[in-house]
This record gives sequence, C-alpha cells and structure tokens, in this order.
Amino acid sequence: MATELLFRDDAYLKSASARIVAVGERGIELDRTIFYPLGGGQAGDTGALLRENGERIPIADTRKGDAIDSVLHVPAPAMQRPEPGETVALEIDWERRYKLMRLHTALHVMSCVIVAPVTGGNISPDKARLDFDIDMSLLDAEKIERETNALIARGVETETVWITDEELDARPELVKTMSVQPPRGAGRVRLLRIPGIDLQPCGGTHVRNIAEIGGIRVLKIRSEGRRNRRVEIALAS
Ligand SMILES: [Zn+2]
Repeated sequence: MATELLFRDDAYLKSASARIVAVGERGIELDRTIFYPLGGGQAGDTGALLRENGERIPIADTRKGDAIDSVLHVPAPAMQRPEPGETVALEIDWERRYKLMRLHTALHVMSCVIVAPVTGGNISPDKARLDFDIDMSLLDAEKIERETNALIARGVETETVWITDEELDARPELVKTMSVQPPRGAGRVRLLRIPGIDLQPCGGTHVRNIAEIGGIRVLKIRSEGRRNRRVEIALAS
C-alpha cells in the first residue's frame, strides 16, 4: 500500500509518529514516513522505530515496495518485529541524511557545470558521483571544482515544482539522466528547481539553500567504459 511520503514536502523532518500497517519478510510498512527509500541513486535512510513499550527497532535500510509510493523499513537482523496497528515514533539518522542531501544537491549543481548526458549516479554519505557520456579530455577536475563551488556560493533557495506527465513529455530536454527516467504513472512528476542553475525531475531530498552544501572537492575522474566518465566528489567540509 502507499505510504504518505513526509520527506517529499519537508526533507528536514528528523522525527514523526506513524502507525504500522504491515510487517513482512522484506520490511515494515507505515502509514506515513520520513525515511527516504533507496532511489534515484540516493542511499536509503537509516534510523530507528521506537515502540510505545520503549523498545527501539534499529532500521538498517529503507527500500521501495512494489506499489507506487510504498516504503519498506528494513529492521536490523534478529530484532523483535512490531505488530500492525502499533503506533511508533520515527527517528532518522539525521547527520547521515543531511550529508546525503548536501551531496545530492551538489550533484544537481555539478550537472550544470559538466554539460553532457548523465549515464548514472550514486550518492552515499561520504561521497557521490555522476557518470557522463563525454570525452575524457573535456573533464578538468580543478575547473569542475571551481565552477561548481562558484555556483554554490550564489546561495540560492531550491524549489520543488510538480508538472504533469504530459508536460514532461512536451519538454524532453528536462531529462538529463539517460539511465534513470522519472517515475511515471502517478500522473505528475516532481522537479527540483535551482533558480538560474538547474531544473530537472527528481524525487530525492535536497537542501533548502545551496549554500548549505558549503562546497565540494573532486575526488577523482576516471573512465568506466566507452560512454562512462565518472566524476566523484565529496563535501569540502
Ligand atoms: Zn535531486
């Protein structure tokens, strides 16, 4: 069943309460959640569910379920499973998530410095990468770092915009990522807009103001196949 995705409207929620609707082999489903499930290259959240009896159920990962907007909270192995109907307090590992948000938003900014089709990407708490279909000679780590940091220094607010599937079909130039097409079927698609910098479909969690990224360092650039040049970054601090 669908879970109300609280992080979609407010990525800064660190806690919330929710009701358990199902407990299965693959994870625990809630009526609402602040846990982001692995997707769009961004790692799933970790944290804990706190039962009314005081017991703490550590959540080791968060994944998408089979239905649209369904979310599976994966408990750490050998934990006592809660019962459907129970109310639990949700807590995400905020320090980890905030790093993911900063790195994720940094990739949006960097994708406007390196103008080429994006063939893949990944965001983990300590580093992130984008793969581009581009000639190696066009990638200069020092230049990418300087130009990305100059855009970050503009300190603009990010915005979430929703458009219909039809509007997106009419504007294919919005989709930079060849490997990940935006999810369709829900009738509408979520876009992240960084005014004057970037606009693209994205369901991930972002910082409110790009100044929160602080700055990035390019860790390495390497070839990962004929059409893949991988640019890996970390937060500057
Ligand atoms: Zn995004």
